[in-house]
Amino acid sequence: MSEVSLLDHALVRLDEAAKHLNVDADVIEKLKFARETTKARLMIRMDDGSRKSFLAWRCRYDDTRGPTKGGIRFHPESTADEVEMLAFWMTFKCAVMNLPYGGGKGAVQVDPRKLSKAELERLSRAYIQAFARIIGPDRDIPAPDVYTNSMIMGWMADEYAQIVGQASPGVITGKPLALGGSLGRGDATARGGFYLVRHLAEELGLKGSLRIAVQGFGNAGQHIARLLASDGHKIVAVSDSEGAVRAAGGLDLDRLFVAKDAGRSVVTTAGQGGHELLDGAALVGVDCDILVPSALENMIRIDNADLVKARIVLELANGPVTAEADAILEKKGVVVLPDILANAGGVTVSYFEWVQNRQGYYWPIEEIHERLRTIMEREGRAIWDVAKAKDVSVRTAAYVHALARLAEAIEAHGTQNYFAS
Ligand code: NAD
Repeated sequence: MSEVSLLDHALVRLDEAAKHLNVDADVIEKLKFARETTKARLMIRMDDGSRKSFLAWRCRYDDTRGPTKGGIRFHPESTADEVEMLAFWMTFKCAVMNLPYGGGKGAVQVDPRKLSKAELERLSRAYIQAFARIIGPDRDIPAPDVYTNSMIMGWMADEYAQIVGQASPGVITGKPLALGGSLGRGDATARGGFYLVRHLAEELGLKGSLRIAVQGFGNAGQHIARLLASDGHKIVAVSDSEGAVRAAGGLDLDRLFVAKDAGRSVVTTAGQGGHELLDGAALVGVDCDILVPSALENMIRIDNADLVKARIVLELANGPVTAEADAILEKKGVVVLPDILANAGGVTVSYFEWVQNRQGYYWPIEEIHERLRTIMEREGRAIWDVAKAKDVSVRTAAYVHALARLAEAIEAHGTQNYFAS
């Protein structure tokens, strides 16, 4: 008996979107499978002199709309199936935002916390040695993902430059600023979500000062809290992997940032500034207007979706709401702003980085913000209109919107009807 893969689960969204569009069968046939997934074994020298090997993959899911784009994650549970699912999501996310990219993803099956810094550098360089023939500024452009960061991207870009014999900053995005990174990349994911909510506030029935709960207080979670608070809203609860704190009158964000900067959990602020301790699992049920999942996948599931009291869920994390939970939330009238739109600010500013690298001219921060806002508002509005016109969820509308663009590109090469007539 064959098991249902993660990619099969993701493909349900494709089938759902296809019901609302008149796309050629060729389009579905093309988007059902990854174009290429390459596997390698990375062999590195450990600090104690021994050799150790790690499994690694790079998937280029679909490149009809341009070079493939997607992060590289370092995680002990990464698999080829997960990489293909994430690359499928990237294909749709880039099409949602009308970026001239297809979708890709990469991973190394490793727990990076068990490596020394020097071992981590050797592993990052080994990844590029293995996949240099696959990636390239016009072919496949990696970026950071779970447990990879700008320093790792800097090592990888340097390794690629050594292999091809010339500087090629456009091969990787999310680089340090000094090595061709872009201003505004740090808070781009949260900022995109923030612009989206602000633009659709009236349609979403959001007025005045709102109460926000943030699940996961890392990069995306901290930035969205800061942006929404500076717009006059109250952050009433936040969580991280160790638990949660809440304050009905609003949490003291500076206190939380100090704790996180010092490597401490948000729970260490309990008892100060009116912060009360809360069980981490209870965060999804906090009384609030907007719930912002910004931690991991599958956090809102069949067993806790009914607890959600928020009217809006802003998915900054990838895949935080399962398909079963989606149905429950829809029945409750909760509007979910889906990941492939809500967190696409990150890949959009990555695209800006690539454009700046290619032209060799770098934009000021105001220009980055303005360009990001324009794209978020344009695509957010278009998707909202599709949702209303077709009477579907915003998630289905986002997939329909992306599929229409992918279909147009695939069909432009000729379809079954064209060749048969
Ligand atoms: P991060 O590692 O900086 O933060 C993740 C946070 O989640 C940490 O505070 C961690 O303690 C917390 N966490 C882990 N398990 C938890 C649990 N069970 N309950 C509550 N909190 C928990 O990661 P990030 O870059 O902020 O990314 C978060 C999510 O956003 C991921 O799904 C990522 O794929 C997605 N995302 C991030 C970006 C980006 O640019 N950073 C772009 C697109 C999507």
